[in-house]
Amino acid sequence: MDEKRVRLGGIGKDWDVERKPIDVIVIHHTKGDSGMTWQRLNAMHLLRLYAKSYFSPSTEKEIQGLPIFSNHFRSNDNTRMVFYAYHWLVREDGTAERLLADNEIGWHAGNWDINCRSVGICLDGNFEHATPPQRMIEGAKKIIQNHYAHVEYACIIPHKNANPKTTCPGEWFHEVKWK
Ligand SMILES: [Zn+2]
Repeated sequence: MDEKRVRLGGIGKDWDVERKPIDVIVIHHTKGDSGMTWQRLNAMHLLRLYAKSYFSPSTEKEIQGLPIFSNHFRSNDNTRMVFYAYHWLVREDGTAERLLADNEIGWHAGNWDINCRSVGICLDGNFEHATPPQRMIEGAKKIIQNHYAHVEYACIIPHKNANPKTTCPGEWFHEVKWK
């Protein structure tokens, strides 16, 4: 392990050993202005998801007080630790950015069992009370079709079905025919 990696990330648990076959797709929105960058998402998820868990972890995670560690690394030499929790970020024009790899567990659902067996697809914008543009929905459907066609229709769920504490991704979810 090189010095840079130690400085940035230290060492910690490899959460991804708990990865299970993907049989759930969780749809999210950023609930912010469109144009989210992975860097900003990274900072937000470090604070809201990882830091929160490391300060008051659920019982199965004996990590309280330990250095925050995602075991997800990005950059040319694979040394920058990242904390974003989604696998895909879909833009208004339907283009998509790959964030986590499928063998990495995203901390996106607010439910560890679902995290272990799902991918998170996030729509870039606030769709709390608005339906996403059709091109954006088509972009998300294309990801599902190209990468997760085996997932049953009933297992394509809005975030709020995994975690009742959130309204993510808004009220329009069931109007969409996902495949
Ligand atoms: Zn969400």
